[in-house]
Amino acid sequence: TLSTYWSRYRSVPIVYRIGTAFVLGSVFGLVVGQPATRLQPLGDLFVQLLSMLIIPIIVFTLLMGARRLTPSKLGRIGGQVVGLYAITSGLAVAFGLLVANVINPGENLQLTGGEAMEAEAPDIVDVILGIVPGNVIGSMAAGDILPVIFFVIVFGYALAVVEESDQVSEQVNEGIESFYNLAEAGAEAMFKIVWGVMEYGVLGVFALMAAVFGQAGVDAILPFALLILTLLLAVTLHIAVVHLGGLVMLLAGQSPIKFLRGGRDALVTALSIRSSSGTLPVTMSDADENLKIDESVYSFSLPLGATINMDGTALYQGVAAIFAANLVGVSLTLPEQFTVVVVAVLASIGAAGVPGTGLIMLTLVLTQLGLPLEVVGFVAGVDPILDRMRTMTNISGDLSVTTVVAKWNNAIDFTSGSWVGEPRGPA
Ligand code: ASP
Repeated sequence: TLSTYWSRYRSVPIVYRIGTAFVLGSVFGLVVGQPATRLQPLGDLFVQLLSMLIIPIIVFTLLMGARRLTPSKLGRIGGQVVGLYAITSGLAVAFGLLVANVINPGENLQLTGGEAMEAEAPDIVDVILGIVPGNVIGSMAAGDILPVIFFVIVFGYALAVVEESDQVSEQVNEGIESFYNLAEAGAEAMFKIVWGVMEYGVLGVFALMAAVFGQAGVDAILPFALLILTLLLAVTLHIAVVHLGGLVMLLAGQSPIKFLRGGRDALVTALSIRSSSGTLPVTMSDADENLKIDESVYSFSLPLGATINMDGTALYQGVAAIFAANLVGVSLTLPEQFTVVVVAVLASIGAAGVPGTGLIMLTLVLTQLGLPLEVVGFVAGVDPILDRMRTMTNISGDLSVTTVVAKWNNAIDFTSGSWVGEPRGPA
């Protein structure tokens, strides 16, 4: 009967259903062509449903985590997170440069067409000033993650200070307790919503992929096949060597298979919607429910990572710089390539985790190297494909650093939980 089919369908882990929708949607888009773009609103709905959860999930989990975060602990965890984020981003650019130097993906291409779009580069001073919200509600309304993190941490810390002082009334202490309880309940409810939204995601991802390939078509993609392959190879290497080998296995002593299983929903979502911020609710659910990481670490490291840690985006700058140099027939000197590393890492810190940021950042790198900005317009057509790989790598970086820092701070449970390989969903 219909209901048997339905429950059989539901028993398949959500990540496989979304993965299948990803493939079927892509094929559908290629076959149907332009008309498939009409499905776009169904995909936008998925992205919007996820976006809806970003700010509440950050506030609830951070408040929960703040309960256990003394300033010294926060300082230590913060230092470790930011340090690892910076190192891995630098390594990512190096990987991008390395692989692209071997393949030289632009060697046989002619630079034609494509309008250069002039973009505004994020300024590092603005980024730092932007951490402090001029108006908390305004920051929440705008979906600005960094100022929200800042305020909630300050607020959570103040709650703890008030609770510890013995001059406050019973009433105030009860109020603080209920704040924490509220946060815990709110976070639980949010995680439930995430898995509900993911159920819709099966349709949403089909629509998103159909629209992308309906728009682009094979003819437009084929000339860029080598660029796409180069990026694919570079991100695969970076994830395998740095994320899985270095961070997860070596530093955290965790099995990479378990890690990938635990984070698979977030990785597939990133691939589908190409936004680190949009994926954040799923990344946090995976960290909490599957990777068994304590909220005192992930509630802080993951929202921060979604904005400042972008391994894939940084790596792409390395690949694209070589690609651009190939197009105009020059080769980059070693000092020039080092400049790419510095500029790419700084730019990836300032850039927002939304679709297409990495393309805009490319203007910075090209300007720095004196390469033609037209390259940006040239690759813009395939960016929706490249962006997916970048975003997935960004999420893998956030999760692997979070795993290491959680391990260092005794905030991860490797033993408990029967989550390995088990289908999940709204239980
Ligand atoms: N879309 C990426 C992200 O959200 C940024 C980029 O364009 O590389 O992480």
